[in-house]
Amino acid sequence: MKKEYLLQQREKLSVILNELNHRVADQKGGEVSTAKAAYEHFNRPEMDHAQLINEKDTDFQITEMEFKKIDQINSALNRITNGSYGLCEGCKGPIELKRLQIIPEANLCIECQLELMD
Ligand SMILES: [Zn+2]
Repeated sequence: MKKEYLLQQREKLSVILNELNHRVADQKGGEVSTAKAAYEHFNRPEMDHAQLINEKDTDFQITEMEFKKIDQINSALNRITNGSYGLCEGCKGPIELKRLQIIPEANLCIECQLELMD
């Protein structure tokens, strides 16, 4: 992999990572307002508890997904540092550049990814 290309990908990954960190921080701040909203819901007898629990679950899933993505980006940054960036962790072959363009944190080539999804 060309050094300029790696630097470019690292820049891209840092931008995404920053964005995600902000969003997670926002959400953490958002928990207060969620709690407040829940409190207001509780004071309204027409809202049932199941609905409240569902709303909470959805919030949690989003955060969980974002944490996973942060993890993937951090390991991609590590792979840039140790020189294994752009190599598929499944078949050890190169990951398609077009794929890295769209998903810079990808650690599997398209074929291995599809196999995983089967
Ligand atoms: Zn592969």
